[in-house]
Amino acid sequence: MRCPVCHKDNDRVVDTRSSDDGGVIRRRRECCNCGKRFTTFERVEVTSIQVIKKDGHRAPFDREKLRRGLERACWKRPVSADQITTLIAQVEGDVNSTFYSEVASRFIGERVMSYLRELDQVAYVRFASVYLRFSDARDFAQELDDMMNNSKNKLPTPEKKSKK
Ligand SMILES: [Zn+2]
Repeated sequence: MRCPVCHKDNDRVVDTRSSDDGGVIRRRRECCNCGKRFTTFERVEVTSIQVIKKDGHRAPFDREKLRRGLERACWKRPVSADQITTLIAQVEGDVNSTFYSEVASRFIGERVMSYLRELDQVAYVRFASVYLRFSDARDFAQELDDMMNNSKNKLPTPEKKSKK
C-alpha cells in the first residue's frame, strides 16, 4: 500500500481487526520509509450491484453519494471519518452477503439507519428525516419514540438472500 505521506510502497501491517460480522477488515499499517501509520479498509467489492430506486429506476451503487449523506448527517457530531468509512463498508458487506445483482434502495437505507442509530442518535435522526421524508410530525415523533425504546436492542438481521 502506498504511503499517504512519502508515497513509498513499502509498509508493514501492525494490527488487523475484523468487524463483528466479519464484513470489514481494518488494517493498521506503518510505512517502513517514514514511519507514518495509516489505516486501510478491506471489504468485498460491490460496485457492480444495481440499486433499485423507489420509482423502479436502477443505478449503480454510489458509495460517495452515501458518504456525502452521512457526512451531512454527522456534521459537528463526534463521529470520525473512520467510523463513517466503517459504516459504509458494513452496509456494503450486508448488501453483498444478501443480494447478487440488485438491491432495493430501501434495504440500503434501513441498514445505514440501523448502524447510525448505534453510532450517534442525532446523526441518525438527521439521516432518517431526510431518508424517510417523514410525512408529518406525528410519524417523526413515533420514530423518535421507537428509537428511545429500542436503542438498547441489537441490530436486526439482514433479510434472507434472494437468488436472481
Ligand atoms: Zn512513508
